Amino acid sequence: MTTKVHLMTVLFIDHDNLGAEGTEQVLESTRYPNDCLYPSVLGTQTQAVTWDDDHPLNGNAESVAQAVAELFPRPAWTCHICGAPATCFGAYDNQPPAFACSTCCGHGNEDGRCMPTAAEEPEEDA
Ligand SMILES: [Zn+2]
Ligand SMILES: [Zn+2]
Repeated sequence: MTTKVHLMTVLFIDHDNLGAEGTEQVLESTRYPNDCLYPSVLGTQTQAVTWDDDHPLNGNAESVAQAVAELFPRPAWTCHICGAPATCFGAYDNQPPAFACSTCCGHGNEDGRCMPTAAEEPEEDA
């Protein structure tokens, strides 16, 4: 059996102030019909904007794309511990898998649980 796995970039406009954690909880706790999807939020970036109906995020596709590019200059996973740009993705101590930076993760990798992200090659453990 082949199962596809999708890594998606989804923009949420949070008018009700659920916050990043609240939005993640809604996504992960929602039961989809026939259990067809099992979403896991692996990383989140948040920006605050002053909203009105003329906001570029409320415009056409081109306007939204430009606003997103300005708010989030490049896709960058961030460390789940300190928020710095992530250099690896892994699971430790029976925690859910998460992104980490070279400061917070030693990249021991002897058990194969940490993989470098494309952004930057983690330095070898000294
Ligand atoms: Zn970190
Ligand atoms: Zn690592």
